[in-house]
Amino acid sequence: HSSLNDLRFHSYWKGKRGVHGRGSDQHGKNAEEVIVHVPPGTVIRDWETKEILCDLADEGQRFCAGAGGMGGKGNARFATSTNRAPRFAEKGEPGEEAEFELELKLIADVGIVGLPNAGKSTLLARITAANPKIADYPFTTISPNLGVAQLSDYRSLVVADIPGIIEGAASGRGLGHDFLRHIERTKVVLFLIDAGDDDPLNTLKILENELNQHSPVFETRPREIAINKSDITENRERYEKFSADLKGSFFISAVSGEGIDELLDVLWKTLDDLRRAERNREMAVQGEPEVEYTYEAPYSVVQTGHGYRVEGKHVLRAVRMTDFKNDEAVQHLQKKLKKMGLFRALKRLGAHEGESVLIGDVEMEYHSE
Ligand code: GDP
Ligand code: MG
Repeated sequence: HSSLNDLRFHSYWKGKRGVHGRGSDQHGKNAEEVIVHVPPGTVIRDWETKEILCDLADEGQRFCAGAGGMGGKGNARFATSTNRAPRFAEKGEPGEEAEFELELKLIADVGIVGLPNAGKSTLLARITAANPKIADYPFTTISPNLGVAQLSDYRSLVVADIPGIIEGAASGRGLGHDFLRHIERTKVVLFLIDAGDDDPLNTLKILENELNQHSPVFETRPREIAINKSDITENRERYEKFSADLKGSFFISAVSGEGIDELLDVLWKTLDDLRRAERNREMAVQGEPEVEYTYEAPYSVVQTGHGYRVEGKHVLRAVRMTDFKNDEAVQHLQKKLKKMGLFRALKRLGAHEGESVLIGDVEMEYHSE
């Protein structure tokens, strides 16, 4: 599963319903887990508040949209492929309702940044055209400016041609900033400059400024510089003159392919170092390499023969932590439950005045506000 398009073709998900517990202290049978696969780079937001709940940036990360094993009926409404932000609603157990917005952020390893006509598109086409897998690459349908460069069997780079930053800025329309937002996570920046450029050094400065103005994240981002169009004879002399000022730059030709293999090797090496460093940092911080994000729905409400039973770790903990002899503590609990939307949920379920609400082994009476 590598694009959110998969979700568009699912009109809903059905999870097996759990069996409710019978009697006062019997637990119901757990429902089977429903797993919805999304590609790395999927950001999950609360539909209402737009608060980011989880950023599934890496392979294998999980977001738990409901308490473990809770089944539910999904009802999906999906956006068109142009805005790439499908949302889905999942109704879990009675009383529980959750709506999320899913956005797929592009994750490119390398972003090519350059003035118009530097040869960005040509370079992208060149390094990714050799790889027949491009056509299958899911992002190609969403963004034609993204491709995979296959260096060898196990080494590949996702490369993005970042159009419109400068083009848009120049025309005063600020185009491209929207795209930049998506590409902030590009791990390495490749500045591409035309060797025929009047002032390559100044051009580099303009490009760097453009990125830094957009976001401070680019300041510390690893970068490489490639001077393009080495196949043009005059450019060779030009490059000899200014290359001393652009130390470590690559002299390449997107047309003839000169210098490109070396450039890709270095880009790969930079990325590999980054990944290693990241992994080491994670290990150091957490002692284990895998990060699991979980979001648990705070509770679910079950209608019983004589009132309601509220289940959920958060609610139970809140109740357990409350000293019911202390008025202030009880008020605090009330506020907490209200914030969790419990009273609204009960109202929606048609709770009547004075009906019993059981949370853990604490029984309360429902009173509308
Ligand atoms: P972009 O605006 O940065 O995407 O630039 P393009 O890839 O569209 O290229 C602009 C022009 O430069 C086109 O006419 C390309 O054919 C030409 N071009 C790109 N790379 C090279 C190169 O390495 N050598 C030569 N001679 N021309 C190039
Ligand atoms: Mg272009």
